[in-house]
Amino acid sequence: MFGLMQDRPLMISQIITYAARNHPRAAVISKTVEGDIHRTDYAGIERRARGLARVLQRLGIGDADRVATLGWNGFRHLELYYGVSGMGAICHTVNPRLGAPDITFIINDAADSVLFCETSFAGLVETIAPETKLRAVVMMCAPEHMPAITLPPGMDLLCYETLMAAADETYAWPEFDERKAALLCYTSGTTGKPKGVLYSHRSTILHAMAINAADVFGLRATDRILPVVPMFHVNAWGIPYAAPAAGAALIFPGRHLDGASLTKLMNDEKVTRSAGVPTIWLGLLNHLRASGERLHTVKRLVIGGSACPRMMIEAFEGEYNIQIDHAWGMTETSPLGTFNAPLPETDALSGEARLRHLEKQGRGIFGIDMKIANDAGESLPWDGVAQGNLMVRGAWVANAYWGQEPDSACDTAGWFATGDVATIDETGTMEITDRSKDVIKSGGEWISSITLENIAMSHPDVLEAAIVAASHSKWAERPLLIVVPRPDRELTREGVLAIYKDKVPTWWLPDDVVMVDELPHTATGKIHKLTLRNRYREHLTRAGR
Ligand code: ADP
Repeated sequence: MFGLMQDRPLMISQIITYAARNHPRAAVISKTVEGDIHRTDYAGIERRARGLARVLQRLGIGDADRVATLGWNGFRHLELYYGVSGMGAICHTVNPRLGAPDITFIINDAADSVLFCETSFAGLVETIAPETKLRAVVMMCAPEHMPAITLPPGMDLLCYETLMAAADETYAWPEFDERKAALLCYTSGTTGKPKGVLYSHRSTILHAMAINAADVFGLRATDRILPVVPMFHVNAWGIPYAAPAAGAALIFPGRHLDGASLTKLMNDEKVTRSAGVPTIWLGLLNHLRASGERLHTVKRLVIGGSACPRMMIEAFEGEYNIQIDHAWGMTETSPLGTFNAPLPETDALSGEARLRHLEKQGRGIFGIDMKIANDAGESLPWDGVAQGNLMVRGAWVANAYWGQEPDSACDTAGWFATGDVATIDETGTMEITDRSKDVIKSGGEWISSITLENIAMSHPDVLEAAIVAASHSKWAERPLLIVVPRPDRELTREGVLAIYKDKVPTWWLPDDVVMVDELPHTATGKIHKLTLRNRYREHLTRAGR
């Protein structure tokens, strides 16, 4: 017997129509490429998203067609999120920080038909356009800001605001099967060729509702959230959906994500919440310390995408009275999988024990099933010691990649192997110890690169640190520490290694320290381990070790 409840499909358009009706004046504020501040609200975004759906129809976009974007966080990108998915097409957010060959590969792999593009990427588009089958490129700007670029014959160069001015807004959002595809996002390719993850209307709404729970992002109508995490990086972690669903104001930073620009925007627009990767917060922290400025309204920062170093928790909480929310996820999990919110027993922790707990990535959020398994696939205990391959399943976890057979990315019981290595303790709190490709196997035993990096980062003279596995004639692999010293500081090999004393077993100590001016980063701001591994793999063997 079925329940007797309405079976309305979950549609992405419902989020923005809800916000337009219930929170019509909630602000959507954007720092534009031109440098000014643009102000609108959810009623305005919904109205223009309907106009955009008409524009898309005129451009010949139909059901399940892919519409690519190369955009910063801003109001037009938000209109595209709702207009494209809302009319039944697929919004494909492309990461502009990837190299031209990767961008071309991704656009062709997805067979995108039209590209919406920020004027800052005009040159990039001119380069890649001849290699693609795009029908049109729409510049996300007003007519007076149209760049003078040449596209191949047959590919139209159009202006967003000109198209919008001619569009009527009588469009009515259609309803269709909630399992239909809505968004496409490629993994950043940290560990190989980018692969497409195809979200549905259903998965996107369930994820938005899940992250709005009180012990997750828990956004409220009184919040003003600034997603630093880009809209091309796993849909800005779902914030462009969660914020309108909660009625929270959205503040978009555009292209300038340095500490000074973020501080000014956060203070000017009274931002209460924000989210981003550690590299961004490191920049902000360095700016605050150097300038003596304060963040007057920010209460909480979500940190994820890479492990949050302990010193960052200590600094933001201790010096700036800002709560750090450590979260874990990946493109394949929409992205949110875990969130470190207090339990009665962990809320009471203090000092070292508390910091140690906050370094962990958190408990599975409701809707995500999680386990750790050994290489034979057997579940390992939740004792905080056993390390295993992290597996997840849930209604917003990918079952296959773009172009592959359904369910091909998970096992028969529906588990998706994340490629991360983790422990889970008695409280259900998960800690990533490594990416399976980054793990260091010394004499057959695992050494956690994340733990070693975190400790190095707590050294006052270290700006950034990475640990990679270097080949070793006796132990197969040994940890090698690569550090960027703070400017004007004298950092010595012995000085930096001394920080490990009594913190890790002696056999975990890095075998050598390499000082560099900067570390390579991926297009999503993570340290590019693959580049470092390739560069330093033979560092120890070359020295006869
Ligand atoms: P890519 O897989 O290409 O790096 P993603 O953005 O999907 O792109 O990255 C997901 C990965 O990032 C996770 O599998 C995990 O290794 C890492 N990650 C995400 N959040 C955290 C975190 N809080 N701590 C440690 N690692 C994290």
